[in-house]
Amino acid sequence: MTDVLIVGAGPAGLEAALVLARAGRSVVVLDGGPWRNAPAAHSHNVFTRDGAAPDELRQIGRQQAEGYGARFIEAWATGAEADADGVRVQLADGTELAARRLLLATGVEDLLPEIPGVVEAWGEAVAHCPYCHGHELRGRPTVVLGSGERGVHLAGLLLGWTDQVTLCTGLPDGSDGSDGSDGVADDDRQRLADRGVTVDDRPVAALDVDGREVRAVVFEGGERLEATAVYVQPGQRPRGPLPDALGLERTELGHVRVDERMRTSVPGVWACGDTTTPMQAVQLAASSGFAAAAMINADLVGHGARYADAPTLS
Ligand SMILES: Cc1cc2nc3c(=O)[nH]c(=O)nc-3n(C[C@H](O)[C@H](O)[C@H](O)COP(=O)(O)OP(=O)(O)OC[C@H]3O[C@@H](n4cnc5c(N)ncnc54)[C@H](O)[C@@H]3O)c2cc1C
Repeated sequence: MTDVLIVGAGPAGLEAALVLARAGRSVVVLDGGPWRNAPAAHSHNVFTRDGAAPDELRQIGRQQAEGYGARFIEAWATGAEADADGVRVQLADGTELAARRLLLATGVEDLLPEIPGVVEAWGEAVAHCPYCHGHELRGRPTVVLGSGERGVHLAGLLLGWTDQVTLCTGLPDGSDGSDGSDGVADDDRQRLADRGVTVDDRPVAALDVDGREVRAVVFEGGERLEATAVYVQPGQRPRGPLPDALGLERTELGHVRVDERMRTSVPGVWACGDTTTPMQAVQLAASSGFAAAAMINADLVGHGARYADAPTLS
């Protein structure tokens, strides 16, 4: 039987495949398609590979894992179960794969605000993360489409990259991925105003886009606000059906809950990468894939790694 079945060939799944294959484990990876950052031309803040295209990293990651014997199947998992005999994963074509351990590296799905223009420029002039895009969009007249504490935080954070920030709060219901605290409190408005950030409550109708670039935010009634960089706060949900199919416990924020050994609430099932944490980046996902792989390997050799075994710092 295959030692480890990895679902998802993003940075988390590919790094886990590399580590497990190099540890002599038989590994099968279900590759469901492009990484989450595929809409962006470049991956930034990736150690030694800043600016590389997501697809280039993806191909290299896969080739390197294959070089140590990991086997890839291009398919989408539709269901899964785990019991004392191991794990079984069903594919869309009806095939079933069995393994001793299952690692979910399935990422998250971004729920973008339903505002015309957002999807067109997503990953270029419409972004969510200043660490990924802030340098390229620096100095531009910038709008944050958001509200609540997350919107206030993002608007303030962006002052590190530009001194022209407007927080536009008039979004369609449920489209800002906010924390549920609607609008912007008076004291937050004052704090933002003191730092030069304007809060604009007019209802947003659309973005005026030209290809992948943004020209302006258009309000209901047709008034415009010039902006060539727009940040959104997408809601998220774990990607694909497996977390629900397996009945995995979630955190308060909705991520798949893992313990310090990257184990989920279901024995035999581990998880790593974006689906387990709000700290989401290529390199962080890859590191968590490494950690999960090491923990699974330790489990398979019958010697679960324990932090208690680690040396004590003096
Ligand atoms: C627009 C954008 C730009 C970004 N830019 C950067 C950046 O510059 N730098 C940076 O560090 N981070 C960036 N990120 C974040 C980065 O993309 C993620 O943190 C990273 O890709 C997470 O890796 P992952 O392996 O956890 O998940 P993912 O990359 O999402 O990979 C998960 C994989 O699992 C597959 N999958 C899911 N379910 C199934 C299933 N049921 N069956 C088979 N396959 C399945 C998916 O198809 C996907 O291929 C960006 C994100 C976005 C949205």
